[in-house]
Amino acid sequence: MANQLVADPPTYTPQFNENSGKFEDNSSFVKRERKFIQYKCSCKSGTLFSGYSQWKNHIKSKTHQEYIVNYEKNNKEVDDLKIEKNDLLAKNGVLENKILNLENKNKTLTDQNEKLNEIKTIVWRRIIQKNHLLNLLNDCDK
Ligand SMILES: [Zn+2]
Repeated sequence: MANQLVADPPTYTPQFNENSGKFEDNSSFVKRERKFIQYKCSCKSGTLFSGYSQWKNHIKSKTHQEYIVNYEKNNKEVDDLKIEKNDLLAKNGVLENKILNLENKNKTLTDQNEKLNEIKTIVWRRIIQKNHLLNLLNDCDK
């Protein structure tokens, strides 16, 4: 039961080095960590490490080194999808704003239509009253 409450460890991600144009192991990130947070690594299912020395040992493994070399290739599709997702989210935001604007315009038109109907009702009542008064005047003249 208690195990179900333990959060999934965060995934360790290599850092993109702009100078080399390659992904590299993120040493500064792990070194700065005061608490020994456990990380999982996507290089191999079930790989976990915590703390600087375990990380240092892990990145020496052949599986991990191959993973880092191929990281860009393997993750390009995912990264492209992330970019596409953000693009779609932005477009969705624009469309949601357009819908809101149209809903507001529609509400304004509905309000104006209701006011117009109220005025029509008042005008019709006045016409009926006028005709009634004219009939009364006619009756008086007789
Ligand atoms: Zn790894």
